[in-house]
Amino acid sequence: MLHINTLSGNVQKSVGVNSARCYQCGKCSAGCPLNSDMDFAPSAVMRMIQVEDEETDRQLLQSQSIWLCLSCEMCISRCPMEIDIPKVMDYLRQTSLKEGLQNKNAAKNIIPFHRSFLDSIKYLGRLYEIGLIAGYKLRTFKFLQDLNIVPQMLTKGKLPILPEKIKATRQLLNIFKKTSK
Ligand code: SF4
Ligand code: SF4
Repeated sequence: MLHINTLSGNVQKSVGVNSARCYQCGKCSAGCPLNSDMDFAPSAVMRMIQVEDEETDRQLLQSQSIWLCLSCEMCISRCPMEIDIPKVMDYLRQTSLKEGLQNKNAAKNIIPFHRSFLDSIKYLGRLYEIGLIAGYKLRTFKFLQDLNIVPQMLTKGKLPILPEKIKATRQLLNIFKKTSK
């Protein structure tokens, strides 16, 4: 049983996006670089939210699309209604995790990457590439994958050895605590 009323209402309440404003012109899907790899195109995601049906909500939360979205914002730039699809996708990802409905294919690689990325931002306020790689490898046990390119990246200065962090890390942790409730 989903612990949500309808995604439509929750999306509007949580991220301020009114899905009813989408009139299915399809411009977002036409411009999305990941469209062909997604199980539901961005415009279909908006349509699924609009129908307010529990089974459709579940299908959407179990989809791969929400994990493939790069937050590149191409869809907003093309949308005549300026609908913030990346924000919706981010909300759907968090809800999917909260409800334990994450897509099995995405769970293998994308979700460990997502968690490792967020850990870096949560504790440092910046992306620390070596920490991200280590977190990803620990979560996926892919210890040898891409190791051959590490020396080259180090010599070209693409992988800083030491992390940099922002000053307001405590405030950042508080934001994470509040938003994870
Ligand atoms: S933000 Fe996501 S949905 Fe929008 S165009 Fe980029 S990848 Fe596609
Ligand atoms: S571009 Fe905007 S209005 Fe058109 S389908 Fe996509 S979200 Fe809906």
